[in-house]
Amino acid sequence: GATWTGKRVTVAGLGVSGIPAARVLRGLGAHVTVVNDGDDERSRAQAAELEALGVTVRLGDGATLPEGTELVVTAPGWKPDKPLFLAAAEAGVEIWGDVELAWRLRGPGAAPWLAVTGTNGKTTTVRMLASILEAAGLRTAAVGNIGVSLLDAVLGDEKYDVLAVELSSYQLHWAPSLRAHSAAVLNLAPDHLDWHGSMAAYAADKGRIYEGNQVACVYNAADPATEDLVREADVEEGCRAIGFTLGPPAPSQLGVVDGILVDRAFVANRQKNAQELADVSDVNPPAPHNIANALAAAALARAYGVEPAAVRDGLRAFRPDAHRIEHVADVAGVAYVDDSKATNTHAAEASLAAYDPIVWIAGGLAKGATFDELVQKSAKRLRAAVLIGADRALIREALARHAPEVPVVDLDRTDTGAMSAAVREAARLARPGDTVLMAPACASMDMFTNYNKRGEAFADAVRQLAPERD
Ligand code: ADP
Repeated sequence: GATWTGKRVTVAGLGVSGIPAARVLRGLGAHVTVVNDGDDERSRAQAAELEALGVTVRLGDGATLPEGTELVVTAPGWKPDKPLFLAAAEAGVEIWGDVELAWRLRGPGAAPWLAVTGTNGKTTTVRMLASILEAAGLRTAAVGNIGVSLLDAVLGDEKYDVLAVELSSYQLHWAPSLRAHSAAVLNLAPDHLDWHGSMAAYAADKGRIYEGNQVACVYNAADPATEDLVREADVEEGCRAIGFTLGPPAPSQLGVVDGILVDRAFVANRQKNAQELADVSDVNPPAPHNIANALAAAALARAYGVEPAAVRDGLRAFRPDAHRIEHVADVAGVAYVDDSKATNTHAAEASLAAYDPIVWIAGGLAKGATFDELVQKSAKRLRAAVLIGADRALIREALARHAPEVPVVDLDRTDTGAMSAAVREAARLARPGDTVLMAPACASMDMFTNYNKRGEAFADAVRQLAPERD
């Protein structure tokens, strides 16, 4: 529209969000310059494609704010203390992330957003939510940080009734005017502190998700920090705080009673004080942290008006994504479970709580984390530990401090083949009935391209252990 024609917009970063943003803004008639730190073959090819559309691209200089910039649109991962942003702030120029751009460009009558953030469980919860909304016959999609661009969802031809949106703390940082229908913060544990600067700043960015909520702010009753964020948020009149708990729910909460997921927040019939939603066994897998994810998804769906039966059907239809507590195979009576997505200690704690006894494969890049608490909480369930990766010594030392009786094999390896050696070692240590759990509590980039590759290496190694029996 008229507001974009000739507007000077600087897009920070070529990449999964920068390229579509540049295309869309150019399509609206804006005068677009992309600035990019890197100047390699790939970015040159991408630059050529954008230049053909009339976009200006500056490679090898992501620091300088182009003359006359009226708006900066940034890739979410760019750190707030970058010189480009300081220059923009000084010039009084607004900075939007890809989510803010999508939010501003959505048309009149656009689908409302049910938004999810948290340190762990975002993707799982958003997929469960989409599954529930689908079971209710709604046109929906799981979008955002999950790999499906919000811009595509908002501007594409497909019409949606409602969107299930995963938002990272980075995306929230750069989305000042986003207003969700309802939103959930699943949990808050230290992560990405190098980017945000402090735990308080990280929490504040997560808390942005509640700002301006219309119907419900969903929090984790077992994680008071999430409730604090609700209390601090400025919401629309009538918007309610809805808790979820693994125990019996208080009024205005969802929880679990005798193996049944129960809603005491959105009860239509005033005669009843609770509404049964689903069985714990409808949740896949029914591990405690995942039941929490299911309750959060159910709370958002109920806030949107979804019937209890659709919650149950949606949860039953849900299949977890790969590498998230994924059962790979049973070999010689031992279960092999891939939780490669446990890239921080908080995530690993969840899967370590779900099995007993465990031969634990761990290690990788610690990103500044400490392992004492994780080891303390899991020690009782550990049969043995097999360590690989760059920061394995940190885990070895924590095990020595808090679980000296647990046998530890330090493979002293950081090569890609280390995973199959670790699996063979774990197989040797495990007894029938045990679970070999690869939940590294670390990032993968010291040994693998990403956590997917790490999970595949684990599964390949498991398949090498013994010929398939069934
Ligand atoms: P995210 O999108 O936030 O990274 P995922 O749903 O992909 O979360 O799950 C990542 C990992 O975090 C899982 O493999 C599991 O180990 C752990 N996890 C999932 N849900 C939770 C939760 N509610 N609390 C703690 N850990 C969790």
